[in-house]
Amino acid sequence: MPQKRNDIPAEAYIAYVRSLANDAATVLLGGALHASLSATVYINTEMPAYLWLTLGLIVASVSRYYILRNKALAGSDLTVSEAAKVEFRYSIIASIHAAFLGAFGFFGIYLFPDDFAEIASIAIAMGTMISVVGRNYGSPRTVVGATLLSVFPIALGLVLRADASHFVLGLMILPFISVILKSSKHIRSVLATAIDEGNKARKLASRFDRALNTMPNGLVMFDDAGHAVVANHEAAVLLSFPTPQHLLGRTLKALLLRCVAAKLLTREECLRTLDQLGRSLKEGGDSKVLVNFANGRFFEFSARGGEGSLGVITFEEVTQRIEAERQIRNMARFDSLTGLPNRMHFREIVDNVLSLGDVSRMCALVIFDIDDFKQVNDTHGHPVGDGLIFEMATRLRAAAGDKAIVSRFGGDEFMLFFDGIADERELASRLDALFVSIGAPADVSGHQLRVSASAGASVALAFAVDLDSMIVKADLALYKTKADGKDGWLLFAPEMDRAFREKQALKAELRRAIERGDLRAVYQPIIDMKTMKVNSCEALARWTHPELGEVSPGVFIPLAEDMGIISLVSASMLRVACQECAKWPDGIGVSVNLSAVDFQSRAIVDVIDKALRHSGLSPDRLEIEVTETAILTDKVLTRSILEEIKAKGVGIALDDYGTGYSNLSYVHSLPLDKLKIDQSFLSGVETNPRSFDLLKATVRLAREMGLDVTVEGVETMQHLKVLSDSVRPDFLQGFVFGPPLPASGIVELAARNSVGIAAPKQSRRAQG
Ligand code: C2E
Ligand code: MG
Ligand code: MG
Repeated sequence: MPQKRNDIPAEAYIAYVRSLANDAATVLLGGALHASLSATVYINTEMPAYLWLTLGLIVASVSRYYILRNKALAGSDLTVSEAAKVEFRYSIIASIHAAFLGAFGFFGIYLFPDDFAEIASIAIAMGTMISVVGRNYGSPRTVVGATLLSVFPIALGLVLRADASHFVLGLMILPFISVILKSSKHIRSVLATAIDEGNKARKLASRFDRALNTMPNGLVMFDDAGHAVVANHEAAVLLSFPTPQHLLGRTLKALLLRCVAAKLLTREECLRTLDQLGRSLKEGGDSKVLVNFANGRFFEFSARGGEGSLGVITFEEVTQRIEAERQIRNMARFDSLTGLPNRMHFREIVDNVLSLGDVSRMCALVIFDIDDFKQVNDTHGHPVGDGLIFEMATRLRAAAGDKAIVSRFGGDEFMLFFDGIADERELASRLDALFVSIGAPADVSGHQLRVSASAGASVALAFAVDLDSMIVKADLALYKTKADGKDGWLLFAPEMDRAFREKQALKAELRRAIERGDLRAVYQPIIDMKTMKVNSCEALARWTHPELGEVSPGVFIPLAEDMGIISLVSASMLRVACQECAKWPDGIGVSVNLSAVDFQSRAIVDVIDKALRHSGLSPDRLEIEVTETAILTDKVLTRSILEEIKAKGVGIALDDYGTGYSNLSYVHSLPLDKLKIDQSFLSGVETNPRSFDLLKATVRLAREMGLDVTVEGVETMQHLKVLSDSVRPDFLQGFVFGPPLPASGIVELAARNSVGIAAPKQSRRAQG
């Protein structure tokens, strides 16, 4: 406190001075009492001194009263100096008043002894001593002055009477003076302490109040009876009360019910919250309750109760946190592109569905895969690919119906779960219908895309569903659908499992064979139509399986492509073929089959280079055979690779023409030298004029485009006759000239410098 007076804190001093004015009327009452006693003595004794004393007492008490009625004392802005002025004046008048009382006693006891005056003055002295402590403790000056001036003359009078009893009485009064002084001092210190404590409490309360009302959380405290005794501003705002005071005195139930009335809470949510928080408040301990307000906001209420202490409820808005958590949960459960449940969430939903209902119902799982999706991605770019996936998701969801669970497992793979189907027939009709409704072409960012998908399905009774094994089975069925030409669906059958296992085993063995270099090359002569001599040989890969015997390249080449190891086969075939060819007479070249996969990277150019360098073979004796699939997968890259190869002087033949897209329009733009017409063109050519015309027209067309033409699969003499009589392609290849031979066979053949015509019956595929 800044101002001090005699080491008393200013505030305490002001409080003391104010205390003087408490019950100011008693001053008048005391004065009237004193004056009437003095008047009584005057009447009894008729001594004029008492009359003056009576008048003096009246004037002094009225003056004291008047001073105490000073308005400044009651004002809240009373300063220390104003208080000091009042106190000073008061102490003077109070001392004069006391001096009159002292004189009254001294007169009655000693100067003009009178029994009544003596008793009256002692009574007054006693009363004065009490009232001085009781009402003037606030002014030490007044206490000292009033006590000494009123009591001392009485004591002096008694002592001066000089008889033993008065003397003792006079002396006994004296210790009272010190008691009075000490008592008033004690009262003052009690008051000072009280003021100090009060100040501290007020300061603490104001800090508490500030903390309470600036905290971001709502807070309500409840007493033992469950009534709110403290509430902060935020609590009032959140519970929509005008001020914190409006919450006070209400129970938790009343507060929550008011939220229900204000439509902030549903009744159920209110009861649930009340139950949990109420229990914590009653039984002690902590609890947290997440409360969903009707306006979409979330609050977390925390309750802490305890024996004998106030129960506290705090609450804060956690809407943002809940929203963020919800979003994170969604991201973890749903696919961001399609909004469909992802793999993990699909399992959760299916598990959930399976835990309810009739356990003997039949369920089906279907895996969907967009056909040739990679091609869409490669040709049109990923945004279009994404668009197609989104379109597919939308169509599947719409077509599958409410009861089916549709999920995206990643990539272009979708998973459907049908909960409760009557039998496999129903599944078949649902899937057929589904395929019809998803099959229309889609417009994705202006690209008209064919929408085609393959699917595999598996069924199980609800109690026996093992999702993993259902997925494996459906996957096998999907695999089979793809192998059978895509765009459809198949239900899992046990043979698929067996076929799959066998294929897996074969793959493992093939990998080993390729790594060990167990694959061999055989060579099939390609005959020049004009000279009927060997022009070149086609190198064909052979694999002899230790148990299965010869495995057709039609089987193991696609497997190697699937496993991503076809480039090893291509490289080894190129190397071996070039080495062998280098040993043959100069006029005989070699052609090597390359896979579409080889054209996905420029590495093939180096592989060819290396094979040529190592063998020393002249590039114009090497020809590579590519298929339409290779060209169409990535036209731009394939063309530039082909151009690089061609620039080295290596020939390029388009193999198996007529089995794929059979479209010669793109041939123009490619650096091709030769077209190899597939053996299927020869079927029925000797008897069916249409087949004959088609073959002839194709050969002519290719020639017109500047390409040499080889006809493959020349098996019979009839074929040979038709070809040599009228079609007249440039080259011929087929069993009629013998099966593919080992390299040494070609050397012998070349040495004979002519080809034998094989027996017309030979039509089985050569095994080398
Ligand atoms: P392709 O390139 O069209 O090879 C010609 C296929 O026709 C060979 O079958 C050959 O034995 C067969 N063939 C030849 N003359 C006749 C005939 O008169 N009648 C019949 N019916 N067939 C005849 P093969 O050796 O079974 O090869 C099949 C396919 O496997 C090849 O067709 C080729 O696409 C692929 N292939 C073979 N070796 C390789 C290789 O080293 N690399 C790659 N990428 N593919 C290869
Ligand atoms: Mg070929
Ligand atoms: Mg061919």
